[in-house]
Amino acid sequence: MGIHYNEKLKKLPPYLFIEIDRKKKEAIERGSDIISLGVGDPDMPTPEHIIKSMQEAVAKPANHQYPFGAGLLSYRKAVADWYKKRFNVDLNPDEVCALIGSKEGIGHIHLGFINPGDVVLIPEPGYPVYNTGTIFTDGVPYFMPLLEKNGFLPDLDVIPKDVVKKAKLIFINYPNNPTAAVAPKEFYIKLIEFAEKNNIIVAADAAYSEIYYDENDKPSSFLEFPGAKEVGVEFHSLSKTYNMTGWRIGWVCGNKDIIAGIAKVKDNYDSGVFQAVQEAAVTALSSSQKCVEDARKIYKERRDALVDGLRKLGWEVSLPKASFYVWAKVPKGYTSSQVISKLLDEAAIVCTPGNGMGKSGDGYVRFALTVGVSRIKEVIGRISKIKW
Ligand SMILES: *Cc1c(COP(=O)(O)O)cnc(C)c1O
Repeated sequence: MGIHYNEKLKKLPPYLFIEIDRKKKEAIERGSDIISLGVGDPDMPTPEHIIKSMQEAVAKPANHQYPFGAGLLSYRKAVADWYKKRFNVDLNPDEVCALIGSKEGIGHIHLGFINPGDVVLIPEPGYPVYNTGTIFTDGVPYFMPLLEKNGFLPDLDVIPKDVVKKAKLIFINYPNNPTAAVAPKEFYIKLIEFAEKNNIIVAADAAYSEIYYDENDKPSSFLEFPGAKEVGVEFHSLSKTYNMTGWRIGWVCGNKDIIAGIAKVKDNYDSGVFQAVQEAAVTALSSSQKCVEDARKIYKERRDALVDGLRKLGWEVSLPKASFYVWAKVPKGYTSSQVISKLLDEAAIVCTPGNGMGKSGDGYVRFALTVGVSRIKEVIGRISKIKW
């Protein structure tokens, strides 16, 4: 019997980071001492107190049954308290829904709001999942280029009127993966006006809000701005903040009716987040945030080592204010793909080609700061030996 995949599955591009991981494993099998700055997955372990909380939670029989619903009230309250403290945003527990990692909600939100032919506005280069959900719902992606001359912000004024008319959902992501850009307040104010006027739901992806480098200039939440809660929601994750990518926990918060739509999709697709994981997440959000401060210090040392090293070699790189990525212009005369091949073949370094995350990313490569300073110095040493 021949197995036939459906047309939507066939339309999906290969998942970029699985491809990168495959290439990396092949090189390791050939005996290379690979240094991977490819996938944005923290190398540091989950902090001890969160693990301990999980160990206790997992022993409780009450946590062994289907979790169902929008998440434990204690989890949704912990999220609300954290938002109040961090962003001075007021949330009720019914304005929060637990997710199996924010990727789950980002990929499923379309099911609640997109009919065939509806347009979804998607930043590019960007996280591939915004488009995946669009393809699965027969939505039509409209890609908004993130260009350096615009501060890597989408230019809402140049989206054609007929596209805007059909648009139902817009994704934004700051601090941004992959460009490491942070959005200024004016952008959010303009975005809310645009969304309100055109009846478009805003889906703000804030996975990197806590990975910042200047205490006095922290990234904003979309929900801080007047009118935000009328038009949208924000996705958040414990993955990057607490080194918990494997645990699969995040949340979406904001507009109550949008949250209800997402929760309804989830009721019919999955049965919620393992309650023991939710209890551990309450511990993460409500205890001392020193572990996050420590992680920021480590990323900062890595960022400085990589940016300084690349600049000394003549690369054009701006110093990121947030996220654990460095978005570097490739040496003149090369494409992103040529550069990542050269880095892999001649220096055993894995990184992400900018164009792999969208065509406006061509001419850049993304380095993830997921190895220690001594390995970053090794990266610089190896790159210095490449003949361009
Ligand atoms: C890592 C990441 C996420 C979230 O990951 P989860 O582990 O599913 O919470 C979301 N958006 C972007 C842009 C990311 O890089």
